[in-house]
Amino acid sequence: MSHAIRIKPASRVDLSSIPTSADGGMTKEEGKARMVELSGEINELQDLLYAAGEQSLLVVFQGMDTAGKDGAIKSVFRSVDPLGVKSWPFKVPTELELAHDFLWRVHAVTPRKGQLAIFNRSHYEDVLVVRVKELVPVKEWRARYDHINAFEKLLADSGTIILKFFLHISKDEQEERLLAREEEVEKAWKLSVGDWKERESWNAYQAAYEDALAKCSTKHAPWYVIPADRKWFRDIAVAETIIETLKSYTDAWRESLDAVGTIRKAEIDAFRSGQGES
Ligand code: AMP
Ligand code: MG
Repeated sequence: MSHAIRIKPASRVDLSSIPTSADGGMTKEEGKARMVELSGEINELQDLLYAAGEQSLLVVFQGMDTAGKDGAIKSVFRSVDPLGVKSWPFKVPTELELAHDFLWRVHAVTPRKGQLAIFNRSHYEDVLVVRVKELVPVKEWRARYDHINAFEKLLADSGTIILKFFLHISKDEQEERLLAREEEVEKAWKLSVGDWKERESWNAYQAAYEDALAKCSTKHAPWYVIPADRKWFRDIAVAETIIETLKSYTDAWRESLDAVGTIRKAEIDAFRSGQGES
């Protein structure tokens, strides 16, 4: 069973009532060992996704600054074959991107069949930072929830498996992580005065996240809240959810691979017997 919290479609979301800290009854050492197994399983499932080539997988990561998006991606996908994976960070849109609809730059990098695409931030920024910083009129971002749902439905109808993770940290944990970055030389490159500024809008961001999760968690593109104060537990909860989801497809993928294998083998047999005749 997965430790992630799946948001029911059209439900109310109150992030303050969802814990940021959980350990699933494990110690950190047990968790780390478990993660080694889980990352191996993800690797096997991704191999199958790639070989079958029938579906694509899109994994979206969102969360407040320091929530651990980079860390989770690094850990969960550590064993995956790079040939089948692309990860896309979404930054402040360029002039060209802003001259298009907000989904233009996103649609361009959705995964093709057999591929896994990882989004580090996503089209959800257009109802999060854009809303909080009032970058477009209210009417414009309000209309985006429907656009997002229609877009994700199109992807799903076209064979994309979509999983969306909100890495849920507490405000205290964020402060600790921001301060830790100042202490550690290796983490200093991540420092940004913007992060402290954004922190002042913590409540506005939480409210924007609550709306995004409530309005855009659907059967075909569910949102999961991940208690993310403990990094090792965060990774397990994400990995388990991916595994659980992909497992429901593996029988079909294996069947179609067997069918292809049978045809290819027959072709080779026919080729060899043809050679013998000539
Ligand atoms: P980081 O993920 O720390 O590299 O920062 C990327 C920055 O780009 C964040 O501050 C995001 O809020 C910002 N960003 C991403 N997408 C958008 C968007 N659609 N509009 C405005 N800012 C964005
Ligand atoms: Mg940042």
